[in-house]
Amino acid sequence: MAVCPECEAPLDIEADEIEEGRVFDCPECGAELEVVSTHPTVLDVIEKDEGEEKDEI
Ligand SMILES: [Zn+2]
Repeated sequence: MAVCPECEAPLDIEADEIEEGRVFDCPECGAELEVVSTHPTVLDVIEKDEGEEKDEI
């Protein structure tokens, strides 16, 4: 069972739906989650930053 890395809610994802590059929405917090690894299943939060500017100090 995969869990959301943002809010730790369990995600109802079928095993055969998990493949690298696939994106899911967390039903709890609405985060977009990309599968970055399948063994083990690792999900990464896609940050919704639509601005072009990157002001990293
Ligand atoms: Zn979540």
